[in-house]
Amino acid sequence: MKDVWKTYPNGVMALNGIDIYIDKGEFVYVVGPSGAGKSTFVKCMYREEKPTKGSILIQGTDLAKLRERHIPKMRRKIGVIFQDFKLLPKLTVYENVAFALEVIEESPKVIRQRVMEVLDLVGLKNKARSFPDELSGGEQQRVSIARSIVNHPPVIIADEPTGNLDPETAWEIMDIFKEINERGTTVVMATHNKDIVNSFKKRVIAIEGGRIVRDEQKGEYGYEI
Ligand code: ADP
Ligand code: ADP
Repeated sequence: MKDVWKTYPNGVMALNGIDIYIDKGEFVYVVGPSGAGKSTFVKCMYREEKPTKGSILIQGTDLAKLRERHIPKMRRKIGVIFQDFKLLPKLTVYENVAFALEVIEESPKVIRQRVMEVLDLVGLKNKARSFPDELSGGEQQRVSIARSIVNHPPVIIADEPTGNLDPETAWEIMDIFKEINERGTTVVMATHNKDIVNSFKKRVIAIEGGRIVRDEQKGEYGYEI
């Protein structure tokens, strides 16, 4: 990101000059108090929000300049994981994960193979026929991770992925992120989970008032809650 600014239509200045370089294969936590701009920061990374000024380069594409019609294609390079999972309730686990491949018209054989491969990675091969409301929160988050990586994106972005999970389940989810990162995928994770940040030490970027106030390798969470 080069000199990224975001002012919402109501005048709130959420990002005030962000400069950051994240290398391929890094694991980065984004921390900071509520309202600091963390969500806006990550939303700009997958063009859910468009910055008011500045450029955001992902593999050479400037997200800030991207035309609307090119957004879907670019999003395939970026897996996104949310606090509230955002699964499609009327589709099975298998279908939720297959969906991303069906829209790009992969062959049924490739779809089946890739879906079962990622469900295996997240430990849910035996739940392929279940519906989201038949799963625990942790299982639903595993499905959403499977969905986010089924296209093999180089980058995954997670906004508070453990926010709705109990501590033990949160750690199980973290193990999956670790595994994905060890396979070479860049992971950017906004989080309030102090225990995780302080135990599984990685780069920490702290945002306050829409500015980066700290950027440390093997950093600490640095806030009380
Ligand atoms: P965080 O994720 O750190 O809590 P956000 O990026 O959600 O921070 O919010 C940063 C600031 O932008 C806050 O003041 C918030 O109220 C404001 N904000 C977030 N989203 C919007 C929006 N869609 N419209 C207007 N203001 C927003
Ligand atoms: P196994 O590897 O145990 O033989 P399969 O790979 O055949 O199992 O399928 C595992 C699960 O994936 C099945 O229970 C089924 O619900 C689901 N599944 C496989 N293919 C499809 C499909 N095309 N559409 C929906 N669900 C599927």
